[in-house]
Amino acid sequence: MPHPFDRVNDDSMQPLRLAASLATRFCRKRQGWLKSKHQVSTSRINFSMERQTTQRAAIREAFRAAARPLGPQEVLDAAQDDVPSLGIATVYRNIKALIEEGWLQTVDLPGESARYELANIGHHHHFHCKSCGKVFDIEGCPGKLKAMLPAGFELDDHEIVLYGRCDECAA
Ligand SMILES: [Zn+2]
Ligand SMILES: [Zn+2]
Repeated sequence: MPHPFDRVNDDSMQPLRLAASLATRFCRKRQGWLKSKHQVSTSRINFSMERQTTQRAAIREAFRAAARPLGPQEVLDAAQDDVPSLGIATVYRNIKALIEEGWLQTVDLPGESARYELANIGHHHHFHCKSCGKVFDIEGCPGKLKAMLPAGFELDDHEIVLYGRCDECAA
């Protein structure tokens, strides 16, 4: 389609033609600039999402591989084998998210900072190594704890923590 100004051959229209041509060129350039800026931000978002997925996977794997309750620093130490750039703030953020989605649960031992474990492992108890500080899951439950209650008391729940030295520390 011919440009409207192309039909006018009067020299007095020359500045207008120039202005129209410059405006068109500016708009094309701006469109290109906007497009490339959008592409850059999209790839940045993709990269950031990819990184978040990798970090989350490394943190999940740290819990699966350990098969015992972990504190945030232990998670960081284990997951950094896969993702060396991982930081403690990211570990905390992911632990919080994994609790919210029901994948992790908190393990609160008396006088200890929180540790975390898989949420779906069923009723069990813990062993706290007083030498290395690691916490382990132990199988079995004494049960029949109601018999220990004073008359008229009702039992809702129980926590049992055994203390000692783990096999590595005892060796
Ligand atoms: Zn130990
Ligand atoms: Zn029990």
